Amino acid sequence: MKALGILPFARKLIDTYIEQGATVIDATCGNGNDTLYLAQQLQGTGVIHAFDIQQSAINNTKDKTAAFNNIEYHLDGHQNVLDYVDSPVRLSIFNLGYLPKGDKSIVTLPQTTIQAIERIFSILEKEGIIILVIYPGHAEGQIEKEVVLNYLQQFNQEDAHIFKYEFINQKNNPPFICAIEKR
Ligand code: SAM
Repeated sequence: MKALGILPFARKLIDTYIEQGATVIDATCGNGNDTLYLAQQLQGTGVIHAFDIQQSAINNTKDKTAAFNNIEYHLDGHQNVLDYVDSPVRLSIFNLGYLPKGDKSIVTLPQTTIQAIERIFSILEKEGIIILVIYPGHAEGQIEKEVVLNYLQQFNQEDAHIFKYEFINQKNNPPFICAIEKR
């Protein structure tokens, strides 16, 4: 048995929760790695909504997922999700922070991240999941971690199971996962 790293664990969660024909959301599509993974798992069924506020991210994601025709790309903030999605959502993934190899001044922000989580939760299926990969290794990420964790800790336990996956003996504020499963 080998400990799963953070991104492999996120994929394990996707594998566990995704269902054929589902509506799923990549809330921060960036270079499109998660959008591609979701599309591969859905095998042409269902719908994937991919959000990013950077045109370059949308372009990269479109290029990476050109083989699929069940993806809707939204050049808009994930906090505006309800303008585009109204069907029940099975799964959503957020990779917070800045785009690797991109503009490091463009980062996800706690207030809009929480708005997006709340709005997606409002249309999340029972036993659906929101996966958050949180990166506290940069200054804004540290703040976002505090605010988002505080928000999640206050969440009513009757409404959701929320858990955290992290390596507690790693140095330099490694990334970790929080996931919200709707009850
Ligand atoms: N999952 C991506 C991948 O596979 O390459 C990496 C995502 S990167 C860590 C974070 C992304 O969030 C950036 O591309 C950034 O532009 C985007 N972002 C920042 N604020 C956003 C918002 N309000 N709504 C949607 N995307 C946002």
